[in-house]
Amino acid sequence: MNPLPKPSRNLTPLQLERALQLLAHAGREAPAGEPGSEPWLQELIDALVDLSSRDALTDVANRRSFDFALAREIDRVARSGEPALLLALDIDHFKQVNDRYGHVAGDLVIKSVAGALLDCVRPMDFVARVGGEEFAIILPNCPAAFGKTVAERVRRRVERMPVAVGPGTHVSVTVSVGGAFAHQWVRSSPGLWIERADQQLYRCKSMGRNIVLLEPSAVSDVSTEEKLALFETTGFQDLS
Ligand code: GH3
Ligand code: MG
Ligand code: MG
Repeated sequence: MNPLPKPSRNLTPLQLERALQLLAHAGREAPAGEPGSEPWLQELIDALVDLSSRDALTDVANRRSFDFALAREIDRVARSGEPALLLALDIDHFKQVNDRYGHVAGDLVIKSVAGALLDCVRPMDFVARVGGEEFAIILPNCPAAFGKTVAERVRRRVERMPVAVGPGTHVSVTVSVGGAFAHQWVRSSPGLWIERADQQLYRCKSMGRNIVLLEPSAVSDVSTEEKLALFETTGFQDLS
């Protein structure tokens, strides 16, 4: 890779060297154009924003940008009334993969699962790695039947995807997938929505793993916290 160009005008107070080094280290292209010019600086900022939004191992969205996207989706659902689904996914018995094949092989499996998730969803859907072997998918404008189909598609895709981790060595893993729809008539919080999807994920684990469980329906039980969030905005007192 060519060395990154130095800004032509005096930008010492901006301390750009570290930003440029970080981009180069991540294998990113240097900003195009005249170093130090406004378009060049804008490109540099965009590249840094993109870098800070992605998970270094898999290149899908990281936890930070997931949190941001989820809050934005809650806002969108509250305004548009469109259904949205949050899926929480966790690789089953992943510790055994590391223990048996090593951490590098484990990393390859995590990367392959991320790629499989991206393959199964629409361009508008948001795939993120939210923890070690944990992923989440936000599916905006997602009717209930479609959500179940996508979640099953993801589960089957991973199940049928042997990952090459060395010469002649393949590893197969499965995922458990829990899901919850956004409550359309009450402004929820990211934490509560995640909690509801996680509850379904825990049920998957306790029922044997490699299954999909979505919260029964889009108008499922609303928690006390969510009722409070609604009544805070309407002035209602009756929480029964
Ligand atoms: P379960 O089916 O209940 O989810 O079991 P599990 O073994 O997948 O769950 P557990 O939480 O016990 O293990 C997760 C493991 O994931 C432990 C940790 O070492 C591993 N892990 C976390 N992050 C990474 C990573 O970035 N790379 C690799 N190779 N392993 C990781
Ligand atoms: Mg886990
Ligand atoms: Mg796991």
